[in-house]
Amino acid sequence: MPASASAQRGPREKLVEVHHRLCESFGCPIAYFHEHGPMDELVSSLLSHRTRNADSARAFRNLRDRFPDWEAVRDAPVEAVREALAPCTWPEAKAPALQRILAIITERRGSIELDHLADLPVPEAREWLESLPGVGPKTSAAVLSFSSLRRRALPVDSHHHRVAQRLGLIPASLSVGPSHRVLEAMLPAEWDAQQVYDNHEVLMLHGQRVCHFRSPACSRCVLLDLCPTGQARRAPESTLRQPAIPSHA
Ligand code: SF4
Repeated sequence: MPASASAQRGPREKLVEVHHRLCESFGCPIAYFHEHGPMDELVSSLLSHRTRNADSARAFRNLRDRFPDWEAVRDAPVEAVREALAPCTWPEAKAPALQRILAIITERRGSIELDHLADLPVPEAREWLESLPGVGPKTSAAVLSFSSLRRRALPVDSHHHRVAQRLGLIPASLSVGPSHRVLEAMLPAEWDAQQVYDNHEVLMLHGQRVCHFRSPACSRCVLLDLCPTGQARRAPESTLRQPAIPSHA
């Protein structure tokens, strides 16, 4: 499609077109990557903050191997939890934070489980989760979408966010946290949980494999005609007045 035609699209139409093209590239529907219940997903998500997936998965396995249940994690000496979380970034902060969250869930629920989230409307379920210390929109969406609950909620990670900014779907000034509500509001209302999950996954995969942080591979990008950043990068260097790539959030 010519760049002039793509420029006439509204942001919602553009997001849907981006979704369809990336789905064709990556093969939707995308398989869910695990079958955690919501409580396990919450812990997994908290451990993954600023940590490589492989490392947070090792820390999660350590917790599961060393403690019989989440009650035992809650009541253990903090040093024992910190040791289990050693593969993560900042185990010294994550261990007490995790124990605090487990204690709060016990107080509120009488036990450590999140089964009630299945019966709450998604906005209320997200509000409940985000009332826990250290839980933001990415974690609340991950718990609802990635867990066995399979609810309709859109997580936005740094790759997804960067691609959305470069495509002009959201302003370059909009940080990851507030971008959750903006990007989710742009999705077609009739999309089900799988399609919303696919949308996150394909934008994330595109960021990991094509629209890299330092050197986006615009010349082989299926979104080039839709992308103002890619178009600016193609322009002769002498016509570029300012950097084409927004800074990483
Ligand atoms: S054209 Fe370039 S900047 Fe735009 S989405 Fe593709 S790789 Fe990213």
